[in-house]
Amino acid sequence: MKKIVLITAVFLTVMACKVNPFTGKKVLNFYPNSQIFPMAFAQYDQFLTENAVVENTAEAKMITKVGQRISSAAERWLVANGYPGYLKDYKWEYNLVKDETVNAWCMPGGKIVFYTGILPITQTETGVAVVMGHEVAHALADHGAQRMSAGTLQQIGAVAGNVAIQDPEKRNMFNQAYGLGSTVGLMLPFSRGHETEADRIGLQIMAIAGYNPDEAAELWKRMKSKSGGQAPPEFLSTHPSNDTRISNLTAWAPLAKQEAAKFGVTKFQ
Ligand SMILES: [Zn+2]
Repeated sequence: MKKIVLITAVFLTVMACKVNPFTGKKVLNFYPNSQIFPMAFAQYDQFLTENAVVENTAEAKMITKVGQRISSAAERWLVANGYPGYLKDYKWEYNLVKDETVNAWCMPGGKIVFYTGILPITQTETGVAVVMGHEVAHALADHGAQRMSAGTLQQIGAVAGNVAIQDPEKRNMFNQAYGLGSTVGLMLPFSRGHETEADRIGLQIMAIAGYNPDEAAELWKRMKSKSGGQAPPEFLSTHPSNDTRISNLTAWAPLAKQEAAKFGVTKFQ
């Protein structure tokens, strides 16, 4: 029985490797967009009905504007690098929710929420672009689906031989990876590797969108100083701030500007 489980796990792993266009690395992901995205879209819509969406204010419009600039920069990058159809199933949406929690997130397929509580830390449109670029990068790199895939392999090990991945189980896994709605605080953190990847990709796309990548390290310094206060930001439970992150972002900013120059972008706001 153990052998069957092992063979199944190996088989799934081999079949399920997909290249991440941003890193060129093979990653484990056996959930196609067609399975993940509908779950994400439904959960996102539910979240919006249960929370106070801010509409038509200057801030709400700014979130949408930054999101559109960032996702269109990602599209340009993907087309230029030979992945023209990569975003065809994405349905970008950018909402601001009235909630003093310091948080922002992006669900698979490009469903983004900013909480009003993060705006005092982002401070400017460029600060919003730092967080937006990072969150969009998680979605572009399928980090959520990879986390679910790893969970599935563990589960196959746990239920010895029961290889049928039924829909309810998939939904449970999804809910654990994206525990939103009533359990916002329970969303699983990304791995350190995924965080670093999202920082690097996010920096590139914000620069291509015309936002100054030097501001990324500044944002994380503000986040870090906030974490010493009485109420550490919720955002830090899934995105721990540390000095390595800040020094990486500082070191990568000039490279992001070079990448932007390939797209004719040499001035940054
Ligand atoms: Zn992240």
